[in-house]
Amino acid sequence: MVSEHKLLPSTPIQYLKGVGPNLALRFKKKNIETAWDMLFNIPMRYLDRRELSAIKNLRVGEEQSFVATIQSYHASSLNRGRRKLMEVLVQDEQDQLKLTFFQFNEKWMKQRFPVGGKVLIFGEIRLWHGIKNVVHPEMEPWDDEDLTSRIVPLYSLTEGLYQKTVRNIMTKNLHQLLELVEDDSRTVREEGAVQISLKDAFHYIHAPPVDADLELLNNSRSPYHQRIVYDEFFFLQLGLRIRRYQQAAKTSFTLNHNNSLLYEALSQVPFELTGDQQKALEEIGQDYMTGRPMNRMMQGDVGSGKTIVAFLSALSIIQEGYQVAMMAPTEILAEQHYRNLQLMGDPLGVTVRLLTGSTKAKERVLLLEELIAGKIDLLIGTHALITPDVLFKELGYVIIDEQHRFGVLQRAQLKNKSHLGIRDSAPHLLIMTATPIPRSLSMCVYGDLDISIIKEMPKGRKAIITKVFREANHDAMCQEIEKELEQGRQAYFVYPLVEESEKMDLKDATLMHKKLSTVFKKYKVGLLHGRMKGKEKDAIMQQFKNKELHVLVSTTVVEVGVDVPNSTVMVVEHAERFGLSQLHQLRGRVGRGADQSYCYLVAQYAQSEESRFRLKTMERTNDGFIIAEEDLKLRGPGEFLGTRQSGMPDFRIAHIVRDSNLLKASQKRAEEILSEDPNLSLDKNLMIRKIMHDRWGQRLELSGV
Ligand code: ADP
Ligand code: MG
Repeated sequence: MVSEHKLLPSTPIQYLKGVGPNLALRFKKKNIETAWDMLFNIPMRYLDRRELSAIKNLRVGEEQSFVATIQSYHASSLNRGRRKLMEVLVQDEQDQLKLTFFQFNEKWMKQRFPVGGKVLIFGEIRLWHGIKNVVHPEMEPWDDEDLTSRIVPLYSLTEGLYQKTVRNIMTKNLHQLLELVEDDSRTVREEGAVQISLKDAFHYIHAPPVDADLELLNNSRSPYHQRIVYDEFFFLQLGLRIRRYQQAAKTSFTLNHNNSLLYEALSQVPFELTGDQQKALEEIGQDYMTGRPMNRMMQGDVGSGKTIVAFLSALSIIQEGYQVAMMAPTEILAEQHYRNLQLMGDPLGVTVRLLTGSTKAKERVLLLEELIAGKIDLLIGTHALITPDVLFKELGYVIIDEQHRFGVLQRAQLKNKSHLGIRDSAPHLLIMTATPIPRSLSMCVYGDLDISIIKEMPKGRKAIITKVFREANHDAMCQEIEKELEQGRQAYFVYPLVEESEKMDLKDATLMHKKLSTVFKKYKVGLLHGRMKGKEKDAIMQQFKNKELHVLVSTTVVEVGVDVPNSTVMVVEHAERFGLSQLHQLRGRVGRGADQSYCYLVAQYAQSEESRFRLKTMERTNDGFIIAEEDLKLRGPGEFLGTRQSGMPDFRIAHIVRDSNLLKASQKRAEEILSEDPNLSLDKNLMIRKIMHDRWGQRLELSGV
């Protein structure tokens, strides 16, 4: 048992008042595990309970709260049963109102909000066929103790976690949690940006006073939010800068300017490199000459030809006798790289091998022997490469494809696998990504990486034509696709894979596979999904490449990097469920040859405004950079990068676009402090150093404390 006054930021939340092991598990689903996490569990928005209107007086177009009684539930289906709709009629003394849900758990709702019960409702009031309506309102059972008129925080919830529970926990523990906040506000006060102590900021945000500006609160724009945002930015900026110094102090091997292997390879490439490809190759070449390990990210839209650049850049390293590792996020992709690069490597005398989870045990043993004996020049693989027994003789270069799938930690593990120490040096690192990371973001998140950008597409590519189709026009769409098939082209049909409903989606894909087999009678239709074994997937993919299959129905496993230039149609089903970057990635599977390609986005009715905007954006532009910017605006940096999985720094409330002025201020401040005291060893900076190390030391692999 941890006694009260000993609460630490890392104390598990079970030790907070009102949190048992059961609740702790539920919080864990929201990534709230420690006391510090709980403090940072910033309300999503706030409920104005200072004024509760009667339904009659609710103003259309505004967000308001009101209390009403549940009158009836009515469920119906839309779209030939593919989607359900729930309408709930509520009333007060004088008037009625309808609540509409497109996603709901009927049983749970009826239990929690029984007919006849009073409910507190909050949301935007709309008018629909003459009756007031709220779509997906916030709801809570209403009881009399709620009558206090104040501003109430609304926390993000998960199954089995109720507003009231979270609020109670916050109320009971807030005082103690605030004690965790160390007084680092000096860094801010001196600058004069936000003159609030961090402690006051958290207090205000979890328990706002009655006279607070609700709009600022709801947009996370209050000075109190800004104070916390600044804090988040500041310590990361500090950490990234220190990391950069530490990296720059490392040494790597230098090369002998012998590029004959590279020139030989260039003469064999069947096409001309684009200007941007050449430039990226030169930038990498320059990094090799610095005597320090390269840390470079190559950003290029899907289909821009990153693989060949990576391969060519590996040749000068291989020529020096070092080994190269190339890590891809999926077996399909690793296999594809292996096939292509082996073809290029063979005539050059470069030995290329493949190691994945499905490599047979016997084969693996042999391969590992060859690897440690230095007989393999380029080893391509999946995360199978980072298992502990995979040892190189002398690893000189690590290439990571489609970076956003791998985290900092995996990066580090692979880099540390280097040589058994004949020549003492750190390997170079190249990360390839098709997710163009906006400048604002990459500075902030990958402060330690240099960046090469490939914007120019290979010659002769035609812009992909993108079109949104309604579910009802599916047949018309298939007729258009048939025309392409008649010309010998191929088509993808992709289904979203939403974790919770994996079974559903699999069912969708399987059903659609059946249906399409009858629609495209003259052609062969294949099915690919995540439940298949690596070998099965590869076999299907291979058949598709060999044109033995003409249509490929698949769950999102084809998303990353697959290259079949003869396919000219990409159909994305349930397109409204995908994020912009993901849609763009999928679209990038076509348009890889000289033929006109098409991307058809099939969307359901009842889309949100946001999903309509996403689909419009897709129709409007093929430019990955514009799409990335829009996506970042819509989703915010954390989700944009999928940071939770990737181990990349994630902000809890800071938003790089919205808060860009604070980001700049924090960068400036971090630089000022470090220029005066690069190691943060002055007394006045000890606290900052401690906080920085606590928060980022491990993730940024900083040495020294
Ligand atoms: P990505 O950047 O998405 O990884 P790939 O490396 O898979 O793209 O390249 C896509 C396709 O373009 C491949 O078939 C590749 O051979 C081809 N390609 C790459 N560079 C050029 C070029 N300069 N001219 C023509 N085709 C190219
Ligand atoms: Mg690729």
